[in-house]
Amino acid sequence: MRALWKPDAGPGLIMTDRPVPVPTEDEVLVRVLRTGICGTDLHIERWDDWAAEAVTAPLVPGHEFSGEVVEVGAAVRDVAVGDLVSGEGHVVCGTCRNCRAGRRQMCIRTKGLGVQRDGAFAEYLTLPGTNVWVHHGPVEPEVGALFDPLGNAVHTALAFPLVGEDVLVTGCGPIGLMAIAVARHAGARFVVGTDVSPERLRMAEGMGADLGVDVRDDGAAAVRAVQERLGMREGFDVGFEMSGAPTALPAMVENMNHGGRIAMLGLPSGPIAVDWGKVVTHMLTVKGIYGREMFETWQAMSSMLATSAVLRARIGSIVSACHPARDWEAAFAAAADADGGKVVIDWTET
Ligand SMILES: [Zn+2]
Ligand SMILES: [Zn+2]
Repeated sequence: MRALWKPDAGPGLIMTDRPVPVPTEDEVLVRVLRTGICGTDLHIERWDDWAAEAVTAPLVPGHEFSGEVVEVGAAVRDVAVGDLVSGEGHVVCGTCRNCRAGRRQMCIRTKGLGVQRDGAFAEYLTLPGTNVWVHHGPVEPEVGALFDPLGNAVHTALAFPLVGEDVLVTGCGPIGLMAIAVARHAGARFVVGTDVSPERLRMAEGMGADLGVDVRDDGAAAVRAVQERLGMREGFDVGFEMSGAPTALPAMVENMNHGGRIAMLGLPSGPIAVDWGKVVTHMLTVKGIYGREMFETWQAMSSMLATSAVLRARIGSIVSACHPARDWEAAFAAAADADGGKVVIDWTET
């Protein structure tokens, strides 16, 4: 089979021929239709400090996929040959305290698809049957490949109640954009997105944000000004920090109402300074978000997509390009362009 391969610990990837993996009795074999390119994959391709620490090479990277089940291990239940699936890329141990309590997203021995085990930049992959998510309704292959990052967005957006609340979203990359669409769908009053790219801010308004705010200069002041413009008087009730930028969380803390709640998915590359005095005296909640809840997030995103044509159209519009696998280098270059949406690779075109 064709696969994008990281032969050893170092920069670069090669398109090469690899053996089709053989599923164990707990696993399914999936013929991959589409694979999304994630920031994680760009780190793995470049082989930065994070990759050197976290990634096991040799490896097939890739974790955002849709595909069709072509073989099912003897012990797998509720998955059948021919099912259209997406996959939860965190393969958990099943025996640690959190796994046993049903909090599998908090497993202390998680192995990541395309990070510590062979992943989805290939024509076939294997995954435990318990990790696949079967689409029981029609889902386009490109949208199926979005379920992993959409799950990040939904996990963040549904961390706190949103009905009637004013929501600030810092960072309008693909996951921030999806979180805006979900917040709008889930009943927020005002939704405001911030970014440093005018193109992304335009996309934020297309997702249902009331306003996109350029925070290239003074982010905290720009967000304060937008509150006035919208007629807000007390600050944001809920914040989603989606950028990891060192200035984003401080600007958000500055603009929250007392008792405000912050869900934080953006991963800062190092420690950042926050006005903790304000967190205390304003009684703010800050919650870290990682991956997706298994499988409550999957249930929620499937149901929301199935019942809202508006949400479906907005989420689908996040895919900005779909390249055949042979053009993977162009696809990776497009994905590295900060102004774009989500770039997807098609494994079915030869
Ligand atoms: Zn990803
Ligand atoms: Zn575990």
